[in-house]
Formats: sequence, C-alpha cells, structure tokens
Amino acid sequence: MSTATENKPTATYPNVQLFIGGQWRDGSEKKKLAVNDPATGKPVGSVAVATPADLDAACAAALQGFDVWRKVPAAERAKTMREAARLVRERAEGIARWMVQEQGKPLAEAKAEVLSAGDIIEWFAAEGMRVHGRILQPRQAGVVQQVLKEPVGPVAAFTPWNFPINQVVRKLSAALTTGCSIIVKAPEETPASPSELIRAFADAGVPAGVVNLVYGSPAEISQYLIPHPAIRKITFTGSTPVGKQLAALAGQHMKRVTMELGGHAPVIVAADADIPRAAKVGALAKLRNAGQVCISPTRFLVHNDVRKAFVEAFVAQAKASRLGHGLEPGTTLGPLANPRRLSAMQKITDDALTRGAQLATGGQRVGSEGNFFAPTVIVDAPLDSLLLTEEPFGPMASVRGFDKIEEAIAEANRLPWGLAAYAFTASLKTAYELTQGIQTGMLWINQAAAPWAEMPFGGVKDSGYGSEGGPEALEAYLNTKSVAVLNT
Ligand code: NAD
Repeated sequence: MSTATENKPTATYPNVQLFIGGQWRDGSEKKKLAVNDPATGKPVGSVAVATPADLDAACAAALQGFDVWRKVPAAERAKTMREAARLVRERAEGIARWMVQEQGKPLAEAKAEVLSAGDIIEWFAAEGMRVHGRILQPRQAGVVQQVLKEPVGPVAAFTPWNFPINQVVRKLSAALTTGCSIIVKAPEETPASPSELIRAFADAGVPAGVVNLVYGSPAEISQYLIPHPAIRKITFTGSTPVGKQLAALAGQHMKRVTMELGGHAPVIVAADADIPRAAKVGALAKLRNAGQVCISPTRFLVHNDVRKAFVEAFVAQAKASRLGHGLEPGTTLGPLANPRRLSAMQKITDDALTRGAQLATGGQRVGSEGNFFAPTVIVDAPLDSLLLTEEPFGPMASVRGFDKIEEAIAEANRLPWGLAAYAFTASLKTAYELTQGIQTGMLWINQAAAPWAEMPFGGVKDSGYGSEGGPEALEAYLNTKSVAVLNT
C-alpha cells in the first residue's frame, strides 16, 4: 500500500487510469481521451478508456469484492471509511487544484467540495452502524420472526462532471457502509479528482475489488453494465432524458435504481422578505459553480411590489463577480465546464430576447478563450421560452413577478421537475403555505441550499427518485429479508 505523501497530487495534471480489482491500469486497448482545461480550451492530461473486457474484469472484481466486504463487520467498514476521509482531507489542496483544471470552478469552491467529501464519508460510516433489522412479535409460540437488512450487491454508479467528487462520494459511501461493492463510471471530462477519491479508499485499506473505477463511452458502459448479471443496483446522476433511458433499461433487467436528475428550481420572494439579503443569497447561490448545479436557483418569482428593488440588487451582486481561471486568486466565477454549455447559454438567451424578454445583465460569452459566459439576468421571459421550459444549467437567472402567493406556487409547480425550491419570506403563514404547496424534493426557506449528508437529497416528478442523503440513502442499497424460525 502506498503512503499518503506518495499519492499527493502534484501540480501537473495526470494521465488518469482505471482502477479494477485493486490495480491502477490503462484500458486493455490502451485508448485514451484528452482532458481539457475549460478556462483555456487546451488539453492538460488524459483518461484511460475501458473496453468490454475491462468491464467484465470490473464486474468479476466487484463480485469478489462484495463477497469479502459484506462479511466485514460494520464497525470495521466504518473505521476504513474514516481513514479514507482523513486521507481525502489531507490531500484536499492537491485534489482541488486538479479539479479546477478539469472542471473550471474557483479553487475555494473546489476545496470546499473535497473537504465536504470527508464529512459525507464520515456521516455515512457512522450511519452504517445504525442499519438494523427488527424482531417481530410472533403469532405462534416458539417462532422467532426477524427482518434482516442485507447489502443489495455490486453497484454500478454513473456520475457527472459538475461536482466530480461530490457526485461520487454519496453513492460510494452509501454503497460501502452497507457492505456493497461498486463500479464507478466517473466523468471523462473531469476524471482526476474522482480518481483521487477512489485512491483514498484504496489507500485506506478497502480490499481489492470492493471499489472499481472506469471511464470510456458513457452510453456503451451503461448499456454493458446495467444488464450485466453481476450488477444488482444502478445509481445515476445526470440529465432527465438520459436518466429515463437508464431507468428503462434497469427496469428491463429488474435492477434496483436511484435517479438524481435535472431540476429548474423556483425561488419565491414574498413582499415581506428581506430583499437585499434575498438578492445577495440568491445571486451567490445562482453563480456557484457557474450555475452548473442540479439544485441551482433559476426561476426567481418575485412579488411585484419588490421586483424592481430585487432585480437591481441581484444584478449588482451578479456584476460584482470576478471571472477568471479558477486557480487565479480572487476568481469568483469560472468558465462553463465544456463548450456545449456555452452554445446552450447563447441559444437560451437569444430565444428569450427574441420573444420580448428584457436583458438586465450579461447575455453573452466573455473573451474568445475558454468557456466564459457572463452572469445573466433575464426579466419577463415568456413561460414558453427555452429559459422557462429547459434546465439552463449555467449562470443564468429568470425574474418574473407575481401578485398572489398561490400564483407563485402554481408557477413553481408548472414544470415537470421537482428537485429543489427556495423561498424568502418573513411570514410563518407564507412559509407554511409554501411548505405544503410546492412539489419538490428539497425546500430551503430564507437560506441557500445546505444539503448536509443527514438531510435526504433527491427529487420528485421528472427529477428522479430515491435519496442520496439521510438514512433513506442507505435504504436504497439494502434488501429486506423476512425470516421466521420455528423452534421445533
Ligand atoms: P448529457 O445528458 O449528455 O450528460 C449528462 C451526464 O450523463 C454526463 O455525465 C454523461 O457522461 C452522462 N451520460 C450521458 N449519456 C449517458 C448514457 N447513455 N449512459 C450513462 N451516462 C450517460 O448532457 P451534458 O451535456 O453532459 O450535460 C447537460 C445536461 O445534463 C444539463 O443540462 C443538465 O440537465 C444535466 N446534468 C445534470 C447534472 C445533475 O447534477 N443532475 C449534472 C450534469 C449534467
């Protein structure tokens, strides 16, 4: 086993490898994909591509790993996970620097993401000790009726590029603490930081085969792994159209599924809210990770009495952003993660403006190098515009007015998603109405999102099903077995 110091990421971005059966290695055909820095558009490193033979090897390893890991007592599993958390924290600075180079977010955000992984691992490690079954009252003398909770088996996890570590660590921690093994298909665009997360678990002493890491063609890998008989559970974070495809395939093969998909979060700002605070909290939350966040606040529904003041304060906060390379000190807004998002931002802006919306700020690319897009605020976009029917997934906010809270709730619920929602109000009555009325998996009132590990994390409607936080997140990796024993 290598030491923490030996594996500390250096300043040079790596050539990322697969991790199968306890071995770091390239794909069997030695194929690689380039990894680009989104702030410059230039390649910084590469990632290995898995072939079907490599995927078969990963499945065989995951089966063997499962057989070992499920028998390890929960307290021992927790101890190993706590060591992984310690290693992640110890290596946070180097991992965060690689994350900035592959994903674009400012260094402070990257570092916070890595450090929060340590907290998530520890919370799941502790919660694994609280997985227990039940002894039921028997209906017949001499019978013991038990309910057992057992790990579901090898897991295939598919994670996206927006939070390269956070999207992996919830799935990985839930799987490991319940005794499952896992194959992570991490994002090809941002491969180095998740590979360091996996390395921390390997270095912490997780047995070979328990944790496996692959990259390659997302569609080919999911088509291969989901039907594979070794795999018992699928977990995916990404867009709703892809999630529906994968859930359908999993359904054909009767595999357990967790889907954490897109959103289009409404933010209801009541007339009695603290407007400067709502605008500041809202704008900062909107621009976090350049808006490439599934729970990003996007549809600001603001009471007409305070709308003007809100827009002014929101725009001022947005304009105070400092765009730049995430490694440059002082940067608060990095580039979009890939050129696809740049063209999507332009298309959504142009569509809204053509349909009569007003541009309060931004609306265009900044510079010609890298994927920088100005923080954008669009007022009164029509309800059928792209901005208000598709998830923008970028540094873009819509503001529209309302008069009655019921109108705002109806608009919040209009779209097919139901992941996150926000509100700002000083009224308990309004807070109660919003809590009861909004169709959402998560609701934050008078604050930005704070998705701590102990809080359930997941959506309703087209945003998916299942949870990646709280005890519910462990339940998703457990089978329930009913056992009755008659003492003859
Ligand atoms: P995309 O739909 O092509 O990909 C989204 C993610 O799914 C990527 O990580 C990709 O590797 C993966 N993916 C795509 N096809 C797959 C398949 N057949 N099997 C397995 N994985 C597959 O879109 P994109 O251009 O990468 O991202 C744009 C959209 O994706 C955004 O508008 C947003 O809606 C969504 N997205 C959501 C999240 C989230 O946190 N929920 C994260 C990233 C992207």
